[in-house]
This record gives sequence, C-alpha cells and structure tokens, in this order.
Amino acid sequence: MRPEPIPEELLYLFHDKAYLDLLKKADDGHFEHEMLAAGLGTEENPVFKGMFRLALAIAGGTWEGASLLIEDRARCVFDPVSGLHHAGKAHASGFCYVNDIAVATCGLLKRGKKVAYIDIDVHHGDGVQDAFYRTNEVLTISLHESGDTLFPGTGYETEIGAGAGRGFNVNVPLRAGTDDEIYVSAFDAVVPPLIGSFKPDIVLAQIGGDTHREDRFAHLNLTSNGYKAVVGKINELSPRILAMGGGGYNVYKTAGLWTLAWSALVGAEPQDKFTGLVGGMMYGPEADVGSLEDPPFTLEGTEKDLCRAHADRVVKYIQENIFPIHGINPGP
Ligand SMILES: [Zn+2]
Repeated sequence: MRPEPIPEELLYLFHDKAYLDLLKKADDGHFEHEMLAAGLGTEENPVFKGMFRLALAIAGGTWEGASLLIEDRARCVFDPVSGLHHAGKAHASGFCYVNDIAVATCGLLKRGKKVAYIDIDVHHGDGVQDAFYRTNEVLTISLHESGDTLFPGTGYETEIGAGAGRGFNVNVPLRAGTDDEIYVSAFDAVVPPLIGSFKPDIVLAQIGGDTHREDRFAHLNLTSNGYKAVVGKINELSPRILAMGGGGYNVYKTAGLWTLAWSALVGAEPQDKFTGLVGGMMYGPEADVGSLEDPPFTLEGTEKDLCRAHADRVVKYIQENIFPIHGINPGP
C-alpha cells in the first residue's frame, strides 16, 4: 500500500493545535526561539525543511494501517517507518514530532475498538504511556532497557497508571546486558496473561530493532532469535495487529529484524539465499550481514545473575500489583 499523508485535523485527536501550528511553522526549516519550549530545535529534535510534511506522511501510514484493520481488509499490517512513541501532546522528543501511535489509538477508540499497545523497542514508550495513563480503555505494555542507563529515563515498573487507568500501564524495565533467554521469559510471564485477560480487538505493536546486541545506542543483548520469538508470540496473541517499525540504529541488523518480523506476521519462512555470500564483500566485515539470522548468544556468570535477578524482581512486582487488578492469579 502507498499511504496518503494524514489529514491535519485528525492529529487534533491527540495533539494540541498550538503545537501543530509551531510544527507547521518549522516546516520551512527556520528555527524560532519560541519553538524551544516545545522541544523543537534541540539536538534530538532538530528543525528541518519538510519536517511537518514528514510527520503527516508517517502518521498517515499508521492511520491507514489501523483503517485497514477495522474495515476488515487485513489481519496484519506492518509499517516500518511508523511508531514514534516519544512524542507528547504538545512537545517533540527523541526525534518523534507527532505521536502516530496515540493518534491512531484515539481514532480506534472513537470507533469503539478495544486497543492493546505492546512496545518492544529498547526505549521506554513514554509518549504513549502519558497519552493513556489515566484510562482503562487502552492496555499499554512496554518492555525496554531500564531508564537507569537509557533515554528517556522513565518506564519503571512502579508507573502502573492512575485513576481509572491504574493497572492498565505496564512497564518491564530490564537491566543493561539482558539476553534473549531472560527477555523472552519476562515477556512470557507478563504479556500473555494480561492480553488474555484484556481481550483487545486490535493490538498495536511497536517492534523497534534497537534491542539488538549490535545496536549503536542501547545495551541489551538480544539476537534475531529472541526478537523473532517475541514478535511471533505478539502475533499469536493478536486477533488483528498493526506492527510499527520503531527504532533501530544498526541499519543492517534492523533491516534483517524487520524482515524476520514480517515473515513471522504472515507465517512465511524467509529464504536467506545470500547466507554466507554477501557480508564481507559488500559492506565490510564489521557489518556482519552475511546472514539474516544471528548465532545464539547467552550471557554467563555474574552479569547473567544480575540481569536475571533484575527481571525476576520486576516480574514479581507486576504479578503482585497489576495482575490482581485484572483478576489474574499471580501464580506460585
Ligand atoms: Zn528506540
């Protein structure tokens, strides 16, 4: 599909008009001092020519993806460029100017759909958390590297929602270094019971590839094996799914992960006909792109113990404090 830019009025479902007016003003690439208050013109959210049009194009893909699902024209949609989970109602953050996820979710709620959001990008999905923190109409779950060591510094397990939304915002922060095994077992302990109890009509999933152990900016130790397993599990839990590419700063690995994600979503086995042939020659040995799938990696020793203890503590907190709100037996 080739999506159209989203009509500007639809952004008002989530964003403040005054903020959108600022973004529009910045579209010609000229910075003005008043923009700083909205996070624009900083190093992480630079002002550049065409930025508003880019935001409209990205949000248009997400919106059209959600529309395909509710119109029963698709069971799964994948939009690699969407999933800008840091943007707020009236500010830009982490190179996210418009929160396409929150806008699409508001649209789905207006159509009476029950929405669950699962975020496996290595960064905490703070913008989406903030958007739905006080409502029980959206179940928001984010697995990420702990805010102790990574942007945006939020997403602790104690942030569980407020008011009617108490128990409907779930964070699984993981210690820097966490590998496939620990990540997948934390996912299994938390996500399937909550999704099973919430019973969403549609799952929005931000499947950033920056959990990979060769990502430039983050510090988790996932390989394609853990990533593919988790995307497959999310797909199985989802009656309908809109997957969004999110982050990923090792471009070769991210392209590989998204390929594996797509194959998991549509139930196809990717044919890696370049295995062992391309890597060294085309990109240089440092890119290590000769194969779509990585060899297994398992952390060992004290680091493993520390990562496991951290994950166990977080899972226990969620089982004790969030599961009862959903009537889920916390188990042994
Ligand atoms: Zn990210």
